[in-house]
Amino acid sequence: MDLSIVIPLLNEDESLPELAAWIEKVMQANNFSYEIIMVDDGSTDNSWNVIMQLRIGNSAIKGIKFQRNYGKSAALNEGFKAAQGDVVITMDADMQDSPDEIPELRRMIVEDGLDMVSGWKKKRYDNTFSKNIPSKFFNAAARWMSKIKLHDFNCGLKAYKKKLVKSIEVYGEMHRYVPVLAKWAGFRKIGEKVVEHRPRKYGVTKFGWTRFVNGFLDLMTIFFVGKFGKRPMHFFGLWGSLAFFLGLVVFLYLAVSKFFFDQTGMTQRPLFFFALLAMIIGTQLFLSGFIGELIARNSPERNNYLIEEKLGV
Ligand code: UDP
Ligand code: MG
Repeated sequence: MDLSIVIPLLNEDESLPELAAWIEKVMQANNFSYEIIMVDDGSTDNSWNVIMQLRIGNSAIKGIKFQRNYGKSAALNEGFKAAQGDVVITMDADMQDSPDEIPELRRMIVEDGLDMVSGWKKKRYDNTFSKNIPSKFFNAAARWMSKIKLHDFNCGLKAYKKKLVKSIEVYGEMHRYVPVLAKWAGFRKIGEKVVEHRPRKYGVTKFGWTRFVNGFLDLMTIFFVGKFGKRPMHFFGLWGSLAFFLGLVVFLYLAVSKFFFDQTGMTQRPLFFFALLAMIIGTQLFLSGFIGELIARNSPERNNYLIEEKLGV
């Protein structure tokens, strides 16, 4: 199979028929063998019924329905697990991404040998203040931390080699930083293509102001997990030990000075509290690192989602 098109969706019933028809048109024009995997991320509208209807007309349309809303990352993750095509395309369901971009994205993977191609919404049709400016900031920070030269990490329209999507786990809110996950998994040939971005035709955005808070926290996660995820002790253990030994040295200095020199009670001197604090914080940090280390070794459960129903996958 040439292509798997993975579409995460939450309450997008109005868009789905048009989107499916457009993708079908592009697939037929290019003679691709394909599947469309629609992942219904706990929609409360008519989306799942629409997907079932669409499947009657075209068996290439497949569906996965979550029992509740788990988020776009979870939806992508399950779509990736099910995908069979040699090239996997992800796109949003709201028709902000154009299916006309698919052939060129696929060509860049197949002919140029890239592992992944990320769309770049050079001209965006979103609200300037609530999206474009924060997004510039996040992209700059992500670029700096990950050293991946992309303008637009969070574009919904992306293309991947099959092997890549089978090698990564998109969890939490990491869909914003899939290129970083790809790089961690060892896929370094990451390209970029300017794609057409369109105004949302139906419905409303599914991410509110929390996108800023979450975007920032995810960035920290990316940075931390990337550097210390598999070895939390190297961060917490290091700073914990340093703080502890600093406290200990000051403590010893106070003790020596009390018993051999000026006789002032140790607790009379402000430095004593500094030493105490440093030792306590040091121990805390060290323990955090140790516990983190244990957790890092024991979390096979973080990507289990309850799937209510499956269609054709
Ligand atoms: N989406 C999803 N689960 C969620 C939130 C969003 O599957 O919890 C889907 C949504 O239906 C759409 C895509 O993710 O297909 C992008 O969301 P949206 O268009 O609302 O984001 P924006 O374009 O405003 O950044
Ligand atoms: Mg959108």
